Amino acid sequence: MEITFLGTSAGLPTKERNTQATVLSLNPLLNEYWLFDAGEAVQHQILHTRIKLGKLSAIFITHMHGDHLFGLPGLLSSRSFQGGENKPLTVYGPVGIKSFIETTLSLSASHLNYPLEVIEVEDSDCFERHDIRIKVGLLSHGVPSYGYRLEFPDQEGRLLQEKLVAEGIAPGPVYREFKSQDTVYYGGKVYDASTYRAEQIPGKIITFFGDTMPSINEEKLAADADIIVHESTYLEGDLGLSHQYHHSHINDVIKLAERCQVKLTLINHVSNRYHQQDIQLLEARIRREAPDFNFRIARDFLSVSVNMV
Ligand SMILES: [Zn+2]
Ligand SMILES: [Zn+2]
Repeated sequence: MEITFLGTSAGLPTKERNTQATVLSLNPLLNEYWLFDAGEAVQHQILHTRIKLGKLSAIFITHMHGDHLFGLPGLLSSRSFQGGENKPLTVYGPVGIKSFIETTLSLSASHLNYPLEVIEVEDSDCFERHDIRIKVGLLSHGVPSYGYRLEFPDQEGRLLQEKLVAEGIAPGPVYREFKSQDTVYYGGKVYDASTYRAEQIPGKIITFFGDTMPSINEEKLAADADIIVHESTYLEGDLGLSHQYHHSHINDVIKLAERCQVKLTLINHVSNRYHQQDIQLLEARIRREAPDFNFRIARDFLSVSVNMV
């Protein structure tokens, strides 16, 4: 699986960075993409990647601010012409998302040629898609803004082929039974199949946050996560000022990651006043000041492999 940033700027686009959009490739678990937020021009950004809109099966909107939303109508329309025909799509978002989609599509006489389901979320909602549990939590941003915590199923451990061979069980169809069953009957003997598999691999936990200042729900969503994708509109300066605008300061994010034992923090939604050069200098400073904080500040088109964490 892989996370790719299509837009990392807060509020407004810059020449270097687009507004918010992050895509999760579920391959090899599923041949699908899920998109988190759809800032303006997200479909232009997608054209620079290998992402096919027909394989985009779910979109999660964190909140209704334009830098997270204004690319949605264009993306939905274009999907009809870019491989999406007859392929269902679900959009999750705050109350109002349904009316926003219906209004923009109907006023522009746009017709979709695929089934679109729109789900308006609330705090503490929980959904399942293909055994992936999605927990929703309300954040603190002045308008309803949500985080989406994805809990992936545990994976079976690999088959210990060397152990089977050592006991005289040659490779063949019976290996499939050892992989999937509790008990296997073979050659007149009964085997406890679980002892021929490596330990289960715990499913990954990835949380995508909407804009927020520190809140209790943040901790629930980030607890023991492998990866969080979190805003840090302010990479320096006055903490109080960032909270006044209902946003996070880098120090808030460092504390959250520490308290919740997050393995990797990917920072997006960085103020549009920073140029890429400034961000590199600030990133180096943060690394010096918080050496235990495992993080990356995302730039547009950065891809991060989930399996590396
Ligand atoms: Zn924003
Ligand atoms: Zn916002």
